[in-house]
Amino acid sequence: MQTIVIVGGGAGGLELATRLGDTMGRKGRAKIILVDRSPTHFWKPLLHTVASGKRDPQVFQIEYSAQAAEHGFQFIHAEMRSVDRASRTLELAPCMRDDGIAPPARTLEYSTLVLALGAVTNFYGVPGAAGHVCTLDHVGDAKGFYRRFLGACVRASQGGGEKVNVMIVGGGATGVELAAELAHSARALARYKVHTLDPARDVRISILERGSRILPHLPPEMSARAEKYLASRGIEVCTGAAVTSVEADTIHVDGVPRPATMTLWAAGVEGPAISKTFGLSLGRMRQIMVNASLQSVDDPNVFAIGDCASFVCPVKGAAPPRAQVAHQQAVFLAGALARREGAPLPEFRYRDYGSLVSLGPVAAVGVLFGGSVARQLPVSGATANLLYGMMYQKHLMALHGVVRAAAVMLVDWLRKRITPSVKLH
Ligand SMILES: Cc1cc2nc3c(=O)[nH]c(=O)nc-3n(C[C@H](O)[C@H](O)[C@H](O)COP(=O)(O)OP(=O)(O)OC[C@H]3O[C@@H](n4cnc5c(N)ncnc54)[C@H](O)[C@@H]3O)c2cc1C
Repeated sequence: MQTIVIVGGGAGGLELATRLGDTMGRKGRAKIILVDRSPTHFWKPLLHTVASGKRDPQVFQIEYSAQAAEHGFQFIHAEMRSVDRASRTLELAPCMRDDGIAPPARTLEYSTLVLALGAVTNFYGVPGAAGHVCTLDHVGDAKGFYRRFLGACVRASQGGGEKVNVMIVGGGATGVELAAELAHSARALARYKVHTLDPARDVRISILERGSRILPHLPPEMSARAEKYLASRGIEVCTGAAVTSVEADTIHVDGVPRPATMTLWAAGVEGPAISKTFGLSLGRMRQIMVNASLQSVDDPNVFAIGDCASFVCPVKGAAPPRAQVAHQQAVFLAGALARREGAPLPEFRYRDYGSLVSLGPVAAVGVLFGGSVARQLPVSGATANLLYGMMYQKHLMALHGVVRAAAVMLVDWLRKRITPSVKLH
């Protein structure tokens, strides 16, 4: 029986493991194994809500072991350290459990390997960035960022006259979504009297964008609408602002120093450093180059999906690092790998349904593509916000089915009505 090993249980990997477990694992057609260095899954597009204290990751995480038991695959909690493609084995380093017990290091054989490792922050070599900024690569980063923000607000209230300057580098979706939620959190924390600052005057949130407008992937009128909305929440948007270096409490913009209590880097991503050790062809952003069937261009036994893969669609060009792509690739590969052995692999076609960017709890902007990129429908305000919320529901439905996903959303809705709107400590 063949063994399909998926490394990385993120937006793409967990959905793939769930689908393959249901179709092949349960029927004994293949052994499906998922490896992740974390014991739980948290959907990455929601990380800005953890970084702004809006969402408790503990409540929204999915236990890989439970998902595995329910969907016919095996889960191994370990970090992949290397791949030996000649012997088709992986070297796994154990991850420490909460009870302090770590299983021994081990090797794992595969017949087919799917790499779904995600991406890491790209600092583009800006001096001081790697050492002094916060990132949003995983839940730990997001929790750490909020702790620092809360601490900075409390310290500034005690210090008398001090201001909190939050610099967000990058005016893409991540930077904009975080800025909007953070402004809301600063106000909510003042309402709960966690700090005594005037949020409009003392908590200054700035977005530094090198390009000529924020949200460059949306039509210009949507960028302008988002900028206007952010300004109404007191957020400063600086376009044409290139960050040249970063220090502990200062950021240099076009060489000019500006005080920064904390800096969040959201200017772009690249493939994880381990990708360089696979001996596979990599694209410009260190992503594994794959063919039309999502197979590595060098090794037919290795596939790559999501942010760690470089897939160039013959019609749409390079697929962007988005959950939408990871989801579509997981659905495609689940079908392709479930085909009987020997059958030719189909070709993946990426379909761009548009993009939505949240502007806090009640607003969003974006564009939907109906059938073709030429027929785009701009959306904003409460409608866009509703559609944005449905993206997570879709992810839950793919993992749990309709009934359980609806139950999770109902519990979330109820929880929002009986708990504070922001984490208070
Ligand atoms: C704040 C934020 C907002 C976003 N908003 C949106 C949005 O609105 N819409 C959208 O489409 N996209 C959005 N994205 C992008 C989206 O989150 C990613 O494109 C998507 O998560 C990629 O999925 P993936 O499966 O490739 O990787 P990920 O979801 O990042 O998962 C990678 C997994 O691999 C595991 N892993 C990595 N290395 C190893 C190793 N060596 N051994 C074992 N396990 C390993 C990690 O623990 C992780 O679980 C957002 C991203 C961020 C950060």
